[in-house]
Amino acid sequence: MAMQYRHVGRSGLQVSVLSFGAWVTFGPQLAGNTARDCLAAAYGAGVNFFDNAEVYAGGEAESIMGAAIAELGWPRHTYVISSKYFWGIEDSVNTRNTLNRKYLLQAVDGSLRRLRLDFLDIVYCHRPDSDTPVEETVWAMHDIITSGRATYWGTSEWSAEAVLEAWQVADRHHLHKPIVEQPQYNLFERQKVEQEFAVLYDTIGIGLTTWSPLASGLLSGKYVDGVPENSRAMLPGYEWLRGYVTDPEANSKVRSLMIIAAELEVSLSQLAIAWCATNPHVSSVITGASNADQVRENLGAVDVIDKLTPEVLERMDIIFELEVRASAAKAE
Ligand code: NDP
Repeated sequence: MAMQYRHVGRSGLQVSVLSFGAWVTFGPQLAGNTARDCLAAAYGAGVNFFDNAEVYAGGEAESIMGAAIAELGWPRHTYVISSKYFWGIEDSVNTRNTLNRKYLLQAVDGSLRRLRLDFLDIVYCHRPDSDTPVEETVWAMHDIITSGRATYWGTSEWSAEAVLEAWQVADRHHLHKPIVEQPQYNLFERQKVEQEFAVLYDTIGIGLTTWSPLASGLLSGKYVDGVPENSRAMLPGYEWLRGYVTDPEANSKVRSLMIIAAELEVSLSQLAIAWCATNPHVSSVITGASNADQVRENLGAVDVIDKLTPEVLERMDIIFELEVRASAAKAE
């Protein structure tokens, strides 16, 4: 089956339902030819959305992606590329943990330099900043767009209330509004997307580009028997992940999920990624991979979406002891 494209919320922008991001991998695991091969595999499978952030590998992830895309020679109109801002990579009083106007405008210029681009498609406020007035941040994002540095903006890991407030500020002043939120969403992390954000979809038409569909690899099944040598949880600096991905209760759910994957004749990763895409509020599931084979396997999930019938979804809900979808359906 061919890649599917979805509108980002109520905006006119369309992104592939499966996309590809640079967190962890670009820099520590992927550079040069291997990064280029992963991007080429994704693009070849119809992916048109590539996610990055200023802070990933301290700017290196953007440099690697920029060099690879330049080498691949993709026409600029064929892909959508994003970056995100909050933590900062320069040590100075105005450039760390902030969404102030000075930081945002300069940070975007840094991304453009590293990515070798004239403009970005989506710029995200990577986290909320309670120390900067929301008006200042919303005006800065608007000005980034009107200056031609980006075409759309959104937020990541904000509360529903904060997204709504930003949208209302933009509406009041006739500014460019946020079109998208970027929350974590996978079989283990559902509350925000399925409950908290429910107030946003029909009211202000926010779309979602969701992250960590495999819960950092846990939902690929690779951690059921311990931590493999070449896995994310073995990387220096990611020791904090080990307890999470080897949690016995979580891995017993993963084992139960393997039975469903086997019945459907799909890989566990494909099942977990496709599951995210069955939620109609998800515009794009941002996948991650440390090699091109993983990219190809994961993007095969596009063929699995239609296999997830209500009965299959219910079995998955039971494994994860959640009845969110079932109760939402009953309420309709
Ligand atoms: P996943 O949860 O899907 O984890 C991806 C990792 O799992 C890979 O790097 C790889 O790690 C392992 N993996 C992937 N596919 C397979 C497979 N088929 N078989 C076995 N192992 C596999 O996604 P990420 O956590 O990487 O997040 C995806 C993207 O989301 C990021 O690149 C980033 O763009 C975005 N993101 C955004 C955040 C935000 O705050 N807005 C936060 C985090 C991510 P390995 O092989 O090394 O074990």
